[in-house]
Amino acid sequence: MRPAPVGTGEFNRLFSEGSMVKFCSLVSGSSGNAVFVSDGKTNILVDCGLNGKRTAQALCEIGVDHTQLHAILVTHEHCDHISGVGVLSRRYHIPVYANAKTWAAMEAGLGRIQSEHKKVFEPLRTFEIGSIGVNACPTPHDAAESVGYSLFAGGRKLSVATDMGHMPESVFDWVCGSDMVILEANHDVDMLKKGRYPYFLKQRILSDVGHLSNEMAGAVAAKLAAGGTRAILLAHLSEENNVPALAYRVVANALACASVKAGKDMRLGVAQRFCVSGAY
Ligand SMILES: [Zn+2]
Ligand SMILES: [Zn+2]
Repeated sequence: MRPAPVGTGEFNRLFSEGSMVKFCSLVSGSSGNAVFVSDGKTNILVDCGLNGKRTAQALCEIGVDHTQLHAILVTHEHCDHISGVGVLSRRYHIPVYANAKTWAAMEAGLGRIQSEHKKVFEPLRTFEIGSIGVNACPTPHDAAESVGYSLFAGGRKLSVATDMGHMPESVFDWVCGSDMVILEANHDVDMLKKGRYPYFLKQRILSDVGHLSNEMAGAVAAKLAAGGTRAILLAHLSEENNVPALAYRVVANALACASVKAGKDMRLGVAQRFCVSGAY
């Protein structure tokens, strides 16, 4: 029997079983993004594009106390990734990590962050937050210096690869070998082209520094499978220009062309827009 195409029951079941490394999307899409990662000792959020109250609720759903976050990693300054960062950091004394250019671009929007909570890192240099290793890779996106993150915990590599117009070799090499990847499948090209977005916005999304389409995600997924990745959660879907079942089908077909069966050889899910999904 085919797994539910957009349901993430399998992921959620694994999450609740308490496997050592937990990795899940709290919300996903242009109205907000946040990924939670924990190895049981260190709790990290990658981005926080939802307000403090909703973050607390989403974490509560997976049994995590929002006061027990050890860090927020920021990919880039777009508001769907940072709208809750400032308030969360201030309220619960959480350090915020970003590279220098992203700090410069987002600082005014975050509000005051205590100096000891302002952490600046250099991309491609691995650093540690508690028991979790972190490595950030620059990504092609129309932001100051956007990055994706790889996190290393419990012998696993987990990567967040969203918000990029294409995936150059340098980024693929960085993400390859991940056990699990949160991979952008932003739009269906036809839906975008025929849709009601203004011309300039369509061009922006389709550009090299915009967002990954379903087809691009499928091609990347097939290459990742060859590199050993065994779980992919499709994320950052456009509400206007994509449908979860379509994103799933396009990527599952691309995997099938590479002799990888979604649901059997590869765990494949679609992150939900407004609720918790995906766990490794
Ligand atoms: Zn963005
Ligand atoms: Zn985004």
